[in-house]
Amino acid sequence: MSHFSLESVHNYCPYCGEPIELLIDCSVHAQEYVEDCQVCCRPMVITAEVDNEGDVSVRIRSDDE
Ligand SMILES: [Zn+2]
Repeated sequence: MSHFSLESVHNYCPYCGEPIELLIDCSVHAQEYVEDCQVCCRPMVITAEVDNEGDVSVRIRSDDE
């Protein structure tokens, strides 16, 4: 059983609205981190939760909310 599991999630930047791709570490059940947008380079606050079935839910908000 591997503990290393990255899930690719597609979402949109809260600043510029461009589609972005995130790699979520599914071995962590709940996490929040900051990642710069690949397009406009502004910091997005990303909250990722993994349920018991391994489904990932991701929320993205801007850093100034
Ligand atoms: Zn952006």
